[in-house]
Amino acid sequence: MLTFGLIAYEIAHDSAIEKEKHLLKGIVKVESSYLASHFKRTPSLDNLQTYLSNGVNSDHLSLLLNNNGPLLIPALMDIENHHQTFPLKKILTEKTPDGQVSIDGKLYLWVKLPISGSPYDLIHIFRSSYQISTPFSSLAARLVAVGIFILWVAVWVALIISTAVTRRLKAQNDALEHQALHDSLTDLPNRTLLHNRLEYAIKSAKRDKHQVALIMMDLDRFKEINDTLGHHIGDLLLQQVGIRLTKNLKKTDTISRFGGDEFAILLPKAELSHARLVANRIIKALHAPFQLEDSSIEIDASFGVALYPQHANDCTTLILRADVAMHLAKSTDNEFAIYDQDKDPHSLARLTLTGDLRHATEHNEMVLYYQPKVDIKTGFILGVEALMRWQHPQLGQIKPDEFIPLAEQTGMIKSLTLWSLRAAVKQCALLHQANYPITVSVNLSASILQDLQVPSQVMAILNRHNLPPRYLELEITETTIMKDPQQALDILTRLNHLGVRLSIDDFGTGYTCLSYLKQLPVDEIKIDKSFVVNMLNDENDAMIVRSIVDLAHNMGHKVTAEGVETLAILASLKEQQCDKAQGFYFSPPIPYDELEQLLASSMYGATKNIATMLRPVN
Ligand code: C2E
Ligand code: CA
Ligand code: CA
Repeated sequence: MLTFGLIAYEIAHDSAIEKEKHLLKGIVKVESSYLASHFKRTPSLDNLQTYLSNGVNSDHLSLLLNNNGPLLIPALMDIENHHQTFPLKKILTEKTPDGQVSIDGKLYLWVKLPISGSPYDLIHIFRSSYQISTPFSSLAARLVAVGIFILWVAVWVALIISTAVTRRLKAQNDALEHQALHDSLTDLPNRTLLHNRLEYAIKSAKRDKHQVALIMMDLDRFKEINDTLGHHIGDLLLQQVGIRLTKNLKKTDTISRFGGDEFAILLPKAELSHARLVANRIIKALHAPFQLEDSSIEIDASFGVALYPQHANDCTTLILRADVAMHLAKSTDNEFAIYDQDKDPHSLARLTLTGDLRHATEHNEMVLYYQPKVDIKTGFILGVEALMRWQHPQLGQIKPDEFIPLAEQTGMIKSLTLWSLRAAVKQCALLHQANYPITVSVNLSASILQDLQVPSQVMAILNRHNLPPRYLELEITETTIMKDPQQALDILTRLNHLGVRLSIDDFGTGYTCLSYLKQLPVDEIKIDKSFVVNMLNDENDAMIVRSIVDLAHNMGHKVTAEGVETLAILASLKEQQCDKAQGFYFSPPIPYDELEQLLASSMYGATKNIATMLRPVN
């Protein structure tokens, strides 16, 4: 551009000088013909001198020359001085009728014309308002210009080549960037890109005062699919899920593979109702079976949603909270859950509680309460169920429903369960020493059933307190068993071989398959209290209770009804030949000291060597 500018300037500059020259020629022509007409009338040289002297100034000089060369005019002018101003000598030696001279950086134009009818020439010298300041007027200068032009062309060629190279580099860069921001398996945005977009969405939402929804989605049973059908099928499934998700979302939404079988869906402008709608749409889309090579697979997924600004103000917390909601959905067997601070193990109140829970057993804050299990036929207390209580130094007594889920979510359940096993076995052994040969039941949670060390740990505890294994009963809920039926069967069989008794807790609330139930080495089935409490008012509940009693008996198991609150319920259970009962009608869960008193004061307490009877049912 600079080169073009210079050349253009030069052209304009040259033509301006030509214009001046042209003008000058015109002036000289007019003047010479004027003088010629004067010569015809023979004006005196004096007159001419005066005429010409008027044109003398520092820019313009008019002279009259003798054809033979010597200078005649102007007489009024100090010609020596004008040598300084105008390049007279140089011009007078020139043969051409006009031209230009450059002296000391100044440009002089001159025109010489004969005055017809006279022996004189008229010459005008004019100092141009332009200067030959640039060297472009000479040949060398033009060569320089050509050089610059070639250089300019070279620069352009270089520019074109470098643009092509840059374009290629950019394409490579774009590919690398894509790779860095996308998941290689599904080609969906990865965690980093989701983070960036979420940050942007929150910024916009802050400015425009709207909501942002983040949905976390996790496939159920994915590990099982991977393990049984192979990782190749697992990968194909993840790709297909990615495609279905993309089809069911808008272009402005972001769907990201967050890792493993976890996906995140960002709805940059959405309220809860919209997030719910989207989740439902995806649930429906995932319901159709996936055809992967020869296998047809059906999957379910759990969804958790968290919203800006209700649940979190920043990107990291929003992701965490959507994840907590997703785990909540999973643990409650729901497809969809909204973030709930009360159920968040990471929320401040719960964090404090979690910290406290870690020290609860060391600080002797945990105690076991016991609730009798009564033989319905005889009224004897055959055993007690150990139920944990947390005596929190500030918050008072906390019920297991509040802290057991917390312990499960934070991995503390194992040590708590081992603690309750030790405490229950120890106190049961003490009761045996006091001649109350009753059974103690301890509740086992889901994670315990995945630990192959548990059978040997149980045995070590029994040995330490010298309690025969048949006096320890382990209660495992139906849903716990069904989380991993194969593993449960394995561990329960080992425990059974040790000689401890096994009981299926909360029976009726889950879906245990009958053929599987038959294989389980259990001794007892406990009917969930939700059916028992209402069995006299609700025909459905009554029917369920009846069916469970029959089923258990047909399989050779004992049946215990929990939640027995009234004599009427107890009587009805007796009629149905239910074996054992547990509930407020007999006693609420009580501390160990009270249990000792209860055993001592009950009707058969004095005999001590047989189980004690509470209230016999007639
Ligand atoms: P669960 O095993 O079903 O325990 C029976 C629950 O029913 C106890 O609640 C008990 O107090 C309550 N209950 C007893 N009789 C009646 C009655 O007549 N009517 C009604 N409505 N309820 C009655 P609790 O002690 O609050 O325990 C709640 C749950 O916490 C237990 O349910 C059990 O699943 C869990 N849990 C308690 N202790 C432990 C423990 O040491 N380890 C584990 N893993 N879980 C425990
Ligand atoms: Ca129980
Ligand atoms: Ca129960």
